[in-house]
Amino acid sequence: MLCFENRILRLIANGAPVQDTVHQLCQEVEALLPGVICTVMRIDPAGLLDPLAAPSLPAELSGAIGGLMMGPDAGSCGRAAYLRQPVFVTDISADPKWAKLRDLALAAGLKACWSAPITGQDGKPVGALALYFREPRSPLEPERTVIAQCVELCEIALRRHERVADRERRASVDGLTRLPNRAAFNMALASMACDAPGSWALFIVDLDNLKTVNDLFGHPAGDGLIRAAGERIAAAMLPDVTFRLGGDEFAVIVQYPEALTDLEARAGRIFAALEAPADCDGHVVVPAATIGGAVLAGNAAADVYQNADFALYHAKETGRGGFVRYWPGIGSRITHRLDAIRDVTAALAEGRIDAYYQPVVRLDTREIVGVEALCRLRTAAGEVIAASEFQDATSDVKVAAALTGRMLSIVAKDVRGWLDAGIPFQYVGVNVSTADFYAGDLTRKLEHSFGRAGVSLDHLILEVSENVSVGRRDKVISAEISRLRRSGVRVSLDDFGTGHASLTHLVSMPVDAIKIDRSFVAQLWPDDPAMVIVQGLIDIARQLDIRVVAEGIETEVQASQLWMMGCVLGQGFEFSRAVDRTAMTELLRRYAEGMDGAISLMSTHAMTRSLPELATGLRTGTYGAPR
Ligand code: C2E
Ligand code: CA
Ligand code: CA
Repeated sequence: MLCFENRILRLIANGAPVQDTVHQLCQEVEALLPGVICTVMRIDPAGLLDPLAAPSLPAELSGAIGGLMMGPDAGSCGRAAYLRQPVFVTDISADPKWAKLRDLALAAGLKACWSAPITGQDGKPVGALALYFREPRSPLEPERTVIAQCVELCEIALRRHERVADRERRASVDGLTRLPNRAAFNMALASMACDAPGSWALFIVDLDNLKTVNDLFGHPAGDGLIRAAGERIAAAMLPDVTFRLGGDEFAVIVQYPEALTDLEARAGRIFAALEAPADCDGHVVVPAATIGGAVLAGNAAADVYQNADFALYHAKETGRGGFVRYWPGIGSRITHRLDAIRDVTAALAEGRIDAYYQPVVRLDTREIVGVEALCRLRTAAGEVIAASEFQDATSDVKVAAALTGRMLSIVAKDVRGWLDAGIPFQYVGVNVSTADFYAGDLTRKLEHSFGRAGVSLDHLILEVSENVSVGRRDKVISAEISRLRRSGVRVSLDDFGTGHASLTHLVSMPVDAIKIDRSFVAQLWPDDPAMVIVQGLIDIARQLDIRVVAEGIETEVQASQLWMMGCVLGQGFEFSRAVDRTAMTELLRRYAEGMDGAISLMSTHAMTRSLPELATGLRTGTYGAPR
């Protein structure tokens, strides 16, 4: 037992202010161990250090420690509290943890510093006790005992103080989750050092389903969701501090070195923690979240916050959810998307949206077996813009739904026209986006368009981008795809190979066709791995009875290569660009499979011999092909 233990306990029992108690403790320690300086730092709910007692520490140094955010490099005390374990810095001059405070410490003649965390009732760090030495050295056994016993005394004093200071805590703690609140976050963010790019990062976590839970089950259930999510996020992010910013938003200041090397994996911990169903006021809810992240990059803390917010906005608006990390072009991407939404909305209202068609041909006979409808926007000046220019707009739920509705009506009408003209029309592919699946009214739209035009759904195949169909939300989408297929609509997986889908997805989510992305077709060189992948795809698809269409065929060599690999169908500039309905009607009359006297849509140079005018038309785009 320490000689002064009773004196300190008496102060605590008599309700002396916590500052006085720890001040006395520091002086007792300094008397017991001559030459040593003792300090006690408090850690506020946000993780900021606050010198509670440092009677012999130079004011300049204690001022510099005060207001630091605890973290792996925040001196001995900041690190001890952050890692919740004692930290022995035996040589301040050589230790990176002291980089921020080294000059001040050395100027005061302090060479070593040992610190131990003081924990509150709930296990969270509430303070740190430190001993400073005037020579670089390790602690001796009796000194370790002094530290351990003093920490115990501090724990008693600070825990008691915690209860007394509850009112003060309430100002910085969120009542619902007990996490530090927005005010605490603002203070913590302002305290972050911004001189070492990459030394910390910020996550902003937004709950996806709070509004639905509030609407469906009431606010007590919503509160339950927030509480469960907050608790899980905070636990998953330890030792980093999680804040509740308000509503359904949380923030995490990420300093953990391993986390900084792989932010995606760190964010993945949050998704994994949220995944289990939670009891929210008697209702079972599976919490889900979207996360935006940004790393300090030689800018101010406020910029990191804004960047993480941008990333979160982008993650939410593009409908993918999951984690998006800020990148420098994200701002212009967001602006571009907003412009595209505005343009497409205006074009829809003014009837300037149209369908162009690109033929899908048999690679052996080069007859047309189907077409893909591709959306085109006519500007007020009459220029025709390709879908790739305004594709970002289809991540907006309203725009996507309206666009799909419009495209289906136009396409159904055109197919009706081709059938009426006696063309043995086989099928049209129509592109749909994620938003179409979440709107959940695709079936109604199909009845409205194809039903009304009297065109059987046998003539339709919906093209779903692989990027759309996989990921965190794939369950909703694969369920909807299965439903559509049961009702007789065929589905093809677009851009195969570009997303994260693996072949196993074809088992869990059966489709009728896959379209091999043109990036693979462009790489069909003898020693390129793309060759092996495409060959594998073709073979597996054949065994699963799934049709394969190769996209973006631009040369005769690619076409014959694919045919030799067993791919039967293809699409690309080599055969034709997307053309307007008049030109498509003409192409179908000449080249449709099953058409009386149909001939093959040969590659452009072969056609130069057989059909000079048409070939020229296709190549130069006089059939209306834009760019
Ligand atoms: P996608 O579904 O992969 O469509 C193929 C795109 O590749 C088309 O661009 C087409 O013009 C282009 N293409 C075709 N053959 C070749 C070739 O040989 N070489 C090259 N370099 N490109 C070729 P487009 O029309 O600009 O469409 C871009 C994307 O926009 C489409 O990619 C599709 O994802 C989306 N999209 C198009 N129409 C619609 C629509 O009506 N609704 C929705 N939701 N998305 C659409
Ligand atoms: Ca497509
Ligand atoms: Ca595609």
